[in-house]
Amino acid sequence: MEDVTLDDIFISIKTSEKFHQTRIVHIMKTWFNLAKKQTYIFTDGDDVQLNHTANGHLVNTHCGTGRGYSNLGCKMGTEYDTFLSTGKKWWCRFDDDNYVNPTRLLEVIKGFNWTSDIYVGRLSVDYLHTDYQGKTYCYQFAQGGAGCCISRPLALKMKPWCGREALVNTQNQAAMSDDCALGFIITALLKVDIILSDFFHSDYENLTSINPNTFYKQVSLGWSNTNKIDLNNGSQSKVFNEEQDPSRFYSLHCMLYPSTDFCK
Ligand code: UDP
Repeated sequence: MEDVTLDDIFISIKTSEKFHQTRIVHIMKTWFNLAKKQTYIFTDGDDVQLNHTANGHLVNTHCGTGRGYSNLGCKMGTEYDTFLSTGKKWWCRFDDDNYVNPTRLLEVIKGFNWTSDIYVGRLSVDYLHTDYQGKTYCYQFAQGGAGCCISRPLALKMKPWCGREALVNTQNQAAMSDDCALGFIITALLKVDIILSDFFHSDYENLTSINPNTFYKQVSLGWSNTNKIDLNNGSQSKVFNEEQDPSRFYSLHCMLYPSTDFCK
């Protein structure tokens, strides 16, 4: 099989205009630069400056603002449609409070055969049940906040339920959020199992309990104002204070990529 490279992965980030200055800014200064060519930001407003920094990769979805299910589903459905149009082998999607290590993402993704139906991420809860079109289904889903990856053949099979309009429709019928809907479509409607990975992390878990010596192995790490990774591993790399680096992404980036300009 031909070798998969970073160019075979389409990376999407879901955000909102209100988070451009408080969340996206940390991504732009760090990991975005390692995956510039394939990373796209899906938001709900225009931002000329950010679009410039993102090499024109800012997509105003014109979906509604606010965290209503259908606004978020409209954005995720647009991520999905855009991925399909790129022809790439993998769709990996993350929230705007994720640090993604592209090197590690590629390593982990290379462990799977992209020509099969693959859905990999962190399990949210064990099993959930839902009623959909008069039938009860049992499903699992990858926690949206930790990110997940889907292979192209699987993504193509999801089409009846997963475009910009179709995903919102599925969500409305099954009464669920966008990340649940992805899992529901894959594990219940298409009967493809989720592959669990411990390398994806959101702020739903206690981030301080992740050993800093394992950061280099992680695909994604989240943050919130009250839950952040603990950088204390005696590393020689540059550590910024919390005021300069509220997400801890700059310090983490310096730990993983010490030759970055701002780390010297
Ligand atoms: N989000 C959004 N619009 C909103 C609120 C949230 O697009 O009005 C996005 C946000 O940018 C993030 C994802 O939805 O990518 C999850 O939001 P958040 O991290 O605030 O929620 P949590 O994961 O803590 O429930």
